[in-house]
Amino acid sequence: MSDCIFCKIAEKKIPAKIIHEDDLSLAFEDITPQAPVHTLIIPKKHISTTLEVSEEDSALIGHLVRTAATIAKNKDIDGKGFRLVMNTNADAGQTVFHLHLHLLGGRAMHWPPG
Ligand code: AMP
Ligand code: ZN
Repeated sequence: MSDCIFCKIAEKKIPAKIIHEDDLSLAFEDITPQAPVHTLIIPKKHISTTLEVSEEDSALIGHLVRTAATIAKNKDIDGKGFRLVMNTNADAGQTVFHLHLHLLGGRAMHWPPG
């Protein structure tokens, strides 16, 4: 999508601190980190929200989760633990409408979340 900031990052039209890329996905550091580790994992394909995930995207979503787990291992936060978050629409605080998985770690997380 031409006016989507994460599509532009995927197309390298705007910069980001990219830490992983493959045919299906891209991972880059969040510009406003909420934890010592705060990485975003996105599909290269534009999907607006979790509500638009179709049956044919099932493997893609699994790929995003496995990519996040690999990054967590590489950043050595797998043992202590981490949180994966996909915010959807206003009440969850979604601000970028290109599906993304937040990988948060490096500190204890609170529950329930704010
Ligand atoms: P959400 O609130 O779930 O939509 O999360 C969007 C996330 O994208 C926020 O944590 C922002 O800090 C992050 N973000 C927005 N613009 C950029 C950017 N250009 N590069 C990296 N992260 C970004
Ligand atoms: Zn997009």
